Amino acid sequence: MELLDWMARGGHDRVLAVQDFESGLQGWIALHNTRRGPAYGGIRVWRYRNEAEAALDSLRLSQSMTYKCVLAGVAGGGAKTVILADRIKNRNLAMKKLGQFIEGLNGVYRCGPDVGFVESDRIALQQEGSSFYTCHSENLRPAGEATAEGVEFGMRAALDFVDGNSELSGRTVAIQGLGAVGLPLAERLLNKGCRVVACDLDPTTAEKAKRLGASIVEPVKIFEIESDILAPCAMGGVLHDLNLQKLRCRIVAGAANNMLPSPEQANQLHDRGILYVPDFVVNSGALVEGSGFEQTGRTDFDVELRRIGATVSAVLQRADASGCSSHEAAIGMAREILEQENNLGEHPHSGREAEAEDLA
Ligand code: NAD
Repeated sequence: MELLDWMARGGHDRVLAVQDFESGLQGWIALHNTRRGPAYGGIRVWRYRNEAEAALDSLRLSQSMTYKCVLAGVAGGGAKTVILADRIKNRNLAMKKLGQFIEGLNGVYRCGPDVGFVESDRIALQQEGSSFYTCHSENLRPAGEATAEGVEFGMRAALDFVDGNSELSGRTVAIQGLGAVGLPLAERLLNKGCRVVACDLDPTTAEKAKRLGASIVEPVKIFEIESDILAPCAMGGVLHDLNLQKLRCRIVAGAANNMLPSPEQANQLHDRGILYVPDFVVNSGALVEGSGFEQTGRTDFDVELRRIGATVSAVLQRADASGCSSHEAAIGMAREILEQENNLGEHPHSGREAEAEDLA
């Protein structure tokens, strides 16, 4: 892998390799855009086959964080930290060292949690400084609840686009994953009169949704449920070529980052007549609240969260008008905004960020 070449293709500003021999910390902090404000992005601790795979993941995820910021109206750019989980020798120490690296970036990068980063990691990270773990303040509700609310607005916009009716009552929604986002999403939808069919790998977690009124199915069955909306809220890459053919939903709209392995699956969904709402358009609720609080001190972001629905509508209309997939339409819209900012001299870019290759 030619790292600098990949960075040029993706329009990345900076990538920091982090390593500490004693703790076994090894990973990458990718800062895609540091000119629109702080670069926001979570810390992912994951098993990668090698460091090149980890680096590429950080490049892809940080680029899509920039698109997320742009489309959500957040004054910031995208970033992502990925840590190679199986190289860690002393986790507590590794997170402390990572905290020092992040502190050394002096606020350019604002981190938060992502897949595989747990509460004990946060505590260790913050012990050694990292005052820049600011994505979500204690003054706000849990991040997953904000994300779930944004997803609801996105779902309504998608229903309106398909049926001319954004009403949730009487709809069937299938949810994969009942964690920080999936469970509050299930609760919101049940309260609005939806029938919720859901699953989780963890039976105790699934039980919580059952108590709220959701029907629980085996995880392997979730993609075959006949539904109005399928909401993947677990891991990325779940809608691949094999299970995509089994889908029996009309709309895919969920929180899981990078739920499609590549943009090709967006084309396949488009060809099958299934409306796909790009994850980075609909899952920005926590980013909106976290960054908004940090920048303004406000705690009520109702207007901004509702705007997620308006953005989803605009993306779907653009895709319809141009005959492209909604993924392509969303990226095109984000790039146009970046280009306008560049032309107005607001956030000039020296590279080719606005027309960069989509690494998703
Ligand atoms: P989480 O770890 O709290 O919950 C994920 C849940 O999915 C877990 O309960 C896990 O057991 C379950 N799960 C994993 N694989 C599964 C499978 N194959 N079938 C069924 N269940 C499965 O994570 P989260 O914070 O709820 O995030 C969910 C997704 O949304 C992630 O992709 C994350 O990157 C994305 N996201 C989250 C936020 C947020 O605010 N938390 C914001 C934006 C995007």
